[in-house]
Amino acid sequence: MEFDIKKYKDTKKSNTGKHFFITTYGCQMNEEDSEKLSGMLKRIGYTKTESIEDASIVLFNTCCVRENAENKVFGNLGMMKKYKRKNPDLIIGICGCMMQQEGMADKVLKTFPYVDIIFGTHNSYKFPEYLNRVKTEGVQVKEILNKETEIIEGIPIDRENSTKAFVTIMYGCNNFCTYCIVPYVRGRERSRKSEEIIKEIKELVSKGYKEITLLGQNVNSYGKGLEETIDFAKLLRLINEIDGLERVRFMTSHPKDLNEDVISAIKECDKLCEQIHLPVQSGSNRILKEMNRHYDRERYMYLINKIKEEIPNATITTDIIVGFPGETEEDFNDTLSLVKEVGYNAAYTFIYSRRNHTPADRMENQVPDDVKHERFNKLVQAVNEGVIRSNKEYEGKIVEILVEGPSKNDETKLMGRTRNGKLVNFAGDKSLIGQLINLKIVRAQPFSLVGELL
Ligand code: SF4
Repeated sequence: MEFDIKKYKDTKKSNTGKHFFITTYGCQMNEEDSEKLSGMLKRIGYTKTESIEDASIVLFNTCCVRENAENKVFGNLGMMKKYKRKNPDLIIGICGCMMQQEGMADKVLKTFPYVDIIFGTHNSYKFPEYLNRVKTEGVQVKEILNKETEIIEGIPIDRENSTKAFVTIMYGCNNFCTYCIVPYVRGRERSRKSEEIIKEIKELVSKGYKEITLLGQNVNSYGKGLEETIDFAKLLRLINEIDGLERVRFMTSHPKDLNEDVISAIKECDKLCEQIHLPVQSGSNRILKEMNRHYDRERYMYLINKIKEEIPNATITTDIIVGFPGETEEDFNDTLSLVKEVGYNAAYTFIYSRRNHTPADRMENQVPDDVKHERFNKLVQAVNEGVIRSNKEYEGKIVEILVEGPSKNDETKLMGRTRNGKLVNFAGDKSLIGQLINLKIVRAQPFSLVGELL
């Protein structure tokens, strides 16, 4: 179904001086959803502001994957009371994964009755309609759909970056890992038609974008359920044909679904970057089974060795959870030994966080907090040793980077990434932003590289 913004068209004139402020929690999927919310608001005449003080609409796009993200949302909603008191016309909205949880929307309304709009992940395209209702009827709007809708194409997107963009290729997840709430709040897997994806990427290229990252909870199962005969490897090869596009990345892969065809596509297609994010979660077969991951350590290491053999310069990154219910010292040591065996270039490490309604939350053998923290520290140390070692290998090498913008830590410098995702800071003129350039790596730092223009 095509999104029709004309249905919600507000006049720019009536919105003069109207600003919106969005805070986004969680993953890239949420970031992309916020870019769409922002795109719709801009299309009906609003302007983005970085200051809550200036905003006439404040929107919280929430995440429920970890408990601390939820706590932050509650804290921020509490803080909004004073803004609403100062400006009763202020419209406060809350949306995203957290709102899809059973009973959460009612809890929010009860605790923070000054919230005006609540909606979930399946109906965010209706935000302009909800906004109109609040403005014209003066009502509070709460609409949470329990089931995913068909994919809505054509929603305007206000992208943060002008060099690289995220493009969602599929929504939802069918995997039901026992610790994860995503399938409950994002629904079942639905793939976008390849022609829609290609069309979006071509439009981005025509606007000067050089790099795209394909997004999905499980990109390797792309294509299932579509009328066309296509899988992820075929989609990658089609995207590689797009003229003017320089780099393609994707996330997230699932070790049960990543296959040799995808590895071959990365090896053979010049635009596919040599970077694979392959979440392992645990090195213990017993825990992987409890997590319902549908692969074992042997299958995972087979894939890692295949990637290393076929694409020797590929960087491999991962996600790891410590302290899953029932994790013993022996299980944890299996994770540590796997980390050392793979030698990751980066790892997102998490302490297991109980999530309501998930099977792991109901498991009785929860690991005590102090044990989880102790294991987490050991894991971070093991990961970091590997990262530092791999960064050192870049010293003296010439690398190609796409210049993304000012460095995060030092605004006088610029930053960019190598094809395989290494972050490089260097001194250079801002006119280089958006360009592919070669740099010499002069120093490796623990989490980044320092380069020099040639
Ligand atoms: S693959 Fe597992 S961890 Fe990833 S989104 Fe699906 S259920 Fe969650």
